[in-house]
Parts: sequence; structure tokens; C-alpha cells
Amino acid sequence: MNFTLPPEIEAVRDMVSRFMQNEVVPVMEEYEKRQEFPRELIRKAGEAGLYGAVFPESVGGSNMGYMASAVIIEEMARHEVRFTSCNNQQGGTCPTCIYLGGTPEQVRKYVPNLVAGKTIGMMSLSESGSGSDAAGAMKTFARRDGDVYRINGEKMWASIANETDVGILFAKTDRDAGAKGVTAFIVEPKKYPGFTARPIDMLGMSKSFRTCVISLDDFVVPVENRLGEEGEGFKIIMRALQPGRLNVAAKCLGLAQACFEDAVRYANERTVRGQPIGKFQMIQSDIAEMASAIEASRGLVYRTAYSMDNALPSNRIAAIAKYHASQTAKMCADKTQQIFGGYGLASEFRASRLRVYADMLYNGEGSANIQRIIIAEDALGYKVADRHHGKTRLRDVRQTDVAAVAE
Ligand SMILES: Cc1cc2nc3c(=O)[nH]c(=O)nc-3n(C[C@H](O)[C@H](O)[C@H](O)COP(=O)(O)OP(=O)(O)OC[C@H]3O[C@@H](n4cnc5c(N)ncnc54)[C@H](O)[C@@H]3O)c2cc1C
Repeated sequence: MNFTLPPEIEAVRDMVSRFMQNEVVPVMEEYEKRQEFPRELIRKAGEAGLYGAVFPESVGGSNMGYMASAVIIEEMARHEVRFTSCNNQQGGTCPTCIYLGGTPEQVRKYVPNLVAGKTIGMMSLSESGSGSDAAGAMKTFARRDGDVYRINGEKMWASIANETDVGILFAKTDRDAGAKGVTAFIVEPKKYPGFTARPIDMLGMSKSFRTCVISLDDFVVPVENRLGEEGEGFKIIMRALQPGRLNVAAKCLGLAQACFEDAVRYANERTVRGQPIGKFQMIQSDIAEMASAIEASRGLVYRTAYSMDNALPSNRIAAIAKYHASQTAKMCADKTQQIFGGYGLASEFRASRLRVYADMLYNGEGSANIQRIIIAEDALGYKVADRHHGKTRLRDVRQTDVAAVAE
């Protein structure tokens, strides 16, 4: 067993670190103050290859794989977690759904521009009454009307929906068929009428990347933009959620590492009663707990990535990695804020905002309880977490076979 990363992935980490330090960190606060969406920065990140690691070269990716992708996301979050708010839309769930479930024409038309950061993505599954039970409680309905669908309803928590050019939106096409009544659509809100996105006011979250409520009023989607067949939407999103969990776990890991580095620096700098607070054993206890949890999370995140790169059953380990890393992020953000004392609440220190992001990631891409259910039901023999492994007809997001897209 080899616990070291290949040199090409360490080189990618260095490249991402330089990109974040040179291009993103110096200007992110200015974007936040202006409440401006950093479209140009996203294009630069796409150009640098930050969104395309798991996609084949035929659609603009680098085909480096999930390990490289996890390291990229970890490093991005370590430097500026707010800037990772669109990773899912540019390099995660949104293009993955299109790649997994789309026709070769749809894949060619939409995926390359998303991973290049040229078009802005979106993934809209949740509604006000349907989060963890996404399919069962979904109300938004798509009615076929000749060559188009007309979609009516309200979606909730759609990140950057106010900026999106091309997104994935899920709606029922059969109200009585449960999960089999959910259909996925590639939507283009700027091109067709009936789509309004309104940012939700959220305490402590980015003012540049907004999460939105979407009102759909006879919103038009051409039939050719349906993703897969009617009723296949839930299967597509379930497949995309497994890499999505790895992405969120890697983000949690980067956030935890950022907290840890800030805590160590501050504990060495801040003096109380004539000595650095790092000399107090209770502060040392916090530092030790953070270091141990981060190493364990890193092991789980990289093991999940290894498993996915080698096409091994990965659903169970992805749930464990996401659960552990999100707990670690929450714990590290909390301890760091305490180590900063009163300054942990001052907005000039990033420790003041990392905790909100840790809370958000704890719930995103399947809440902590949902991960616990997957892990425990597998352990108790009620439901095998990897029961669908190798059984899906959907395209493999990492297949190198260019012909599959060109067919
Ligand atoms: C900032 C932000 C950005 C987001 N971006 C997007 C996006 O881009 N696209 C999108 O579609 N969604 C997005 N979401 C929605 C997110 O995925 C949901 O919040 C998440 O799925 C949880 O759903 P919910 O909030 O409705 O909670 P609920 O499902 O109502 O759950 C509430 C609580 O009950 C618990 N619970 C639920 N079921 C069970 C059970 N069976 N057993 C035990 N406990 C249970 C949950 O763990 C949670 O603690 C975003 C959310 C936030 C906050």
C-alpha cells in the first residue's frame, strides 16, 4: 500500500495553490464588497483546468481522475472556500448529470463550456418541501406541449441560479410514479421565458455567490433538452451524487485545514499572561484533536477517490468520507473560532465565516443524518450501500473512450 500521492498530483496541488494565491485570494473580498459574481475568475479557473479533472479530453477535461479532483477542491477550499461555491455547477453535479445521462450532442454542446468556465451552471433539485426526500415530495411539474415542456412550480436553494446560463433542473412528469416520475432537463434560463431566480438572504454567506429561490411560470424547455427519458431523472442524480459527496468531503477537508492553519498561527502569535496561548495545554488539546481528525478525514477522502478511480464499489466509503470530513470541518471551525476568542467574531478574520460554511457543508449533498443512515443500514444488513455498483446503463463519467461521445 502506498500512502504518497503521485508527483503529477502534487504538481497539480502546487498549481492550484498558486492560482488561488495569485488570482483569487487578493480580489475575492472586493467582489464580496461589490456583491459581484466573479464570472471572469471562474473563466480563468476553467482555463487553468480546475473543473475538468474527471472528464475526458474529448469534452475539455484533463482525465486526471477523482484523486486529482479531490486534491484540487481541497486546495481551493483551503485558500478561499467561498470561491468553491460554484465547483458543483462547473465541474461537479451539473456537468456530471449531462455527461452521465445526455445524448452525445447534448454532451458536446454543454459540457465543454461548463468545465471551461465559459458558461455558468446550476443544479436544481431541492424544493421548499423536498430536501432529503427529494423525489417523494417534489411538486414542480413539467407538462409536454408539442415540441416543448412547460414547467411550473418553485425550486429552493439553487446555488447561483441568478447567474446561470445552462443548468440541470428536475421536475415531475408523472405525479403518481414517485422517484420514477422525476425527469431531468437541461435548462437555459436566459434563452427562454418563465424563469425568475431570487437570492435568499443568508447570514454569513457569500454576497457574490448567491443561493436562490426559482419561480417557474410556464418556463419553456425544448423537448430536445430533456436529459434521458421521462422518469430517468432520479437515476441520473443518484449516480451524480456519489462524486458529489466526494467533492463536498474534499471541500470540508480544505476548510478544516484552513481552520487548523489559522488556529496554529494565532495560537503562536497571541500572548496572554506573557506567553503564547499555544503554551496552554487546553489550547494544545484542541490543536491535537484538529490535527488527528484532519489526518483521518484526508485518509478517507483519498481512499474514496482511489476507489472511484479504480471503479471499485464506492458508495459506502463516499458516505463515510463525507460524514467524517463534514464533522471534522464543523469541529475545526468551532475550535478555531474559540481559539480566536473575541476576534473569532470579527469579519476581518476568516475564522468568523468558516463556521457558517462548515454548517452548510454538513447538510449539503445529503445531510449528515442521511450519510449515517446509508452507513448504518449497510452495517446492519438492511440495505447494501453499494447495491447498484456496476448495474447502471449510464455512461461512466471517467471513461476515456472518445468514441462514446462522438458516436
Ligand atoms: C447554501 C446552500 C446551497 C444549496 N445549494 C443547492 C443547490 O445548488 N441545488 C439543490 O438542489 N439544493 C441545494 N441546497 C439544498 C440542500 O441540498 C438541502 O438543504 C439538503 O438536501 C437538506 O434538505 P433540507 O434543507 O430540506 O432538510 P430536510 O430534508 O428537511 O431535513 C431536515 C433535518 O432532518 C434530517 N432528516 C431528514 N430525513 C431524515 C431521516 N430519514 N432520518 C433522520 N433525520 C432525517 C436532516 O438530516 C436534517 O437535519 C443548498 C442548501 C444550502 C443551505
